[in-house]
Amino acid sequence: MEESLYIVKDAPGKGRGMFATRDIKRGTCIISESPLVYFYNTGPADTIQAVNDMSKKNKKYFLALRNSHPELPQDIGIIKTNALPLGCESLDCAVFRVISRINHSCALNVKHSWNAKLKKETIFATEDIPAGSEIVTDYLSLLMTREERLKRLAASFGFTCQCKYCASESSEEYDAAVNRIKECSDLIASSCAASNPRRSIGYVREVLGLIDKIDGWGKSTFYHDGFQISAMYSNYTLAKEWADLLLESYRIEEGEVGEKYERYLMYSQNPRSHERAGWGGYIDLTGA
Ligand SMILES: [Zn+2]
Repeated sequence: MEESLYIVKDAPGKGRGMFATRDIKRGTCIISESPLVYFYNTGPADTIQAVNDMSKKNKKYFLALRNSHPELPQDIGIIKTNALPLGCESLDCAVFRVISRINHSCALNVKHSWNAKLKKETIFATEDIPAGSEIVTDYLSLLMTREERLKRLAASFGFTCQCKYCASESSEEYDAAVNRIKECSDLIASSCAASNPRRSIGYVREVLGLIDKIDGWGKSTFYHDGFQISAMYSNYTLAKEWADLLLESYRIEEGEVGEKYERYLMYSQNPRSHERAGWGGYIDLTGA
């Protein structure tokens, strides 16, 4: 049997955590795991029922998880602390025996995603992780300044993040990047709406440069913007270049088994198959 890439053990000051047992290369699937229990967004009675329906063994694992909400009934506190959504926009969620142990860091080194086809949560390394390092992911949208993140983490999970960005009092560069990325996101959309896709692509490139300076931030959202704008304005060679970048990004974050990888493989092979292809007519984006 292949040796596991991780071990769950005490993480000083954070309860338990997941650690790399050997060097892990970027793009490696560290674990894919079925839920201990699902919670569908159908009301509190169903939540209680789902907890009661768990097998004895799963309930034991569930009760051993961290509870950051001692003010709530124990089961609810554990769900609030550990549940992960089943997809980016989903209100359904699940709790996992191992993956729910992964601690937060704003300087994350893995991406967690729900794979609906496999019915498993997958964890892929988004950075090279040296043996012995803690495996960490983000619990929040990272497009927040240091102060916003610290406030949200304290309220939702009851801890103070000690990552290199939060621990340092001088997080000016990080906060400036967050604020500029937010501004650029609006400018990408507004320039495109004003039929100025060359300017939109310029903002996309600016954001990609900012992301390079911060550990752990993914580029998929902005590669997607580059692809969509190029396809909308009928620049199909450029659209393919963006789709290939996006494809590689999804391969690293979710593997070739991921739904997004399959979809963008299709767009990479034929950018004209995107639903907005050619919508804006033709504007030359060469060199933008
Ligand atoms: Zn942090």
